[in-house]
Amino acid sequence: MITSSWPDLEKKYLMFNIKRPPMVIVKGEGVRLWDQTGRSYLDFVGGWAVNALGHCHPAVVNAIQQQAATLIHTSNQYYTIPQIELGRLLVENSALDKVFLCNSGAEANEGAVKLARKYGKVKKNGAYEVITTLKSFHGRTLAMVAATGKPHYQEPYKPLPAGFLNVPYNDLEAIKQATNERTIAIMIEPVQGEGGVNVATQEYMHGLRKWCDENGLLLMLDEVQTGIGRTGKLFAYQHYGIEPDIMTLAKALGGGVSIGALLSKQHCAVFEPGDHGSTFGGNPLACAAGVAVMNEVLHNDISGRAAATGEYLVKRLGELKEKHPIITEVRGLGLLCAFDISKEVAGDIMLRCSEEGLLINMVSPTTIRLMPPLIITENNVDEAIDILDEVLSEF
Ligand SMILES: *Cc1c(COP(=O)(O)O)cnc(C)c1O
Repeated sequence: MITSSWPDLEKKYLMFNIKRPPMVIVKGEGVRLWDQTGRSYLDFVGGWAVNALGHCHPAVVNAIQQQAATLIHTSNQYYTIPQIELGRLLVENSALDKVFLCNSGAEANEGAVKLARKYGKVKKNGAYEVITTLKSFHGRTLAMVAATGKPHYQEPYKPLPAGFLNVPYNDLEAIKQATNERTIAIMIEPVQGEGGVNVATQEYMHGLRKWCDENGLLLMLDEVQTGIGRTGKLFAYQHYGIEPDIMTLAKALGGGVSIGALLSKQHCAVFEPGDHGSTFGGNPLACAAGVAVMNEVLHNDISGRAAATGEYLVKRLGELKEKHPIITEVRGLGLLCAFDISKEVAGDIMLRCSEEGLLINMVSPTTIRLMPPLIITENNVDEAIDILDEVLSEF
């Protein structure tokens, strides 16, 4: 049943956590979404970088349908095949050796910090501090709020769990200054997503790897947003020719089904039975979706497509910048892109674009982020640029 009062009912029954544009999304296919009135939208939000293969990709739908009719859940008390298959795909296609499956990005990062703390207990005199960066985003659990270097996310929840230091991004000296005998790990996004698409420099990533090696620290990469092809490589660390000790994944991995993964090198895979767990983590349904996503991404060079289309998108955004002086900077790696504007009107631009049939995301009043499905074509990019062009001329 479709009723125009869904937003009113939402207001009545759900907590008010996010402001939304007025339409109610009822269907998705490929790079498009439809609202209850039948209007379609070109989706450059992609479920916050989740829908890498677009909406309702047949391979994902089929895998979920088959698995749902076979076995949805058993708990981790038993071996199940999709979990092992997904673990193998992740290990064989990354530099990491071992996988723990969970349900979300925050949960994967929590696991990463617990793994680092256990490693500190057994291998580094109880060291436990994790250095993270300002403008980072690592999730919404209490510990990840402490890890996330955004004071306005932290303020309402103090006191926060101890053991996190937030220092400026792309600043190796700041990491060195913050390191002390309590430090066990450095946790970094290779590209800060929520922070506005800030790309780590080559020198920074190489410097971090070297600093971690020299000081016995773990380099933990939060690839929750950058993983699974988003930046033009399967994993963003592959742009740098370095390898992390620990990596976390989530967003695109399940094709829209909630899943998270914590990956570790053998030398720091120190969990023993009983140390960590999850009721739903690694359940057959989510893992079947993950296996379908991984196979689709690997067999169709989705990462390579993202690299090429991303380059085209950044080039077209550069042209828009020439034409519209309100755009002050364009950034991107693969299909994780953003542009800054000189006035605090990102919210208005987002709303106007949705009225014109284009969905975009704002990460601050002066920054707009684009993270479309990785299957978009250059024609889809042109369509989005035409709408942005028209809307920006109003500002
Ligand atoms: C989205 C995101 C998270 C949090 O993931 P959830 O699934 O929302 O818990 C963590 N880290 C990064 C880099 C993210 O983009």
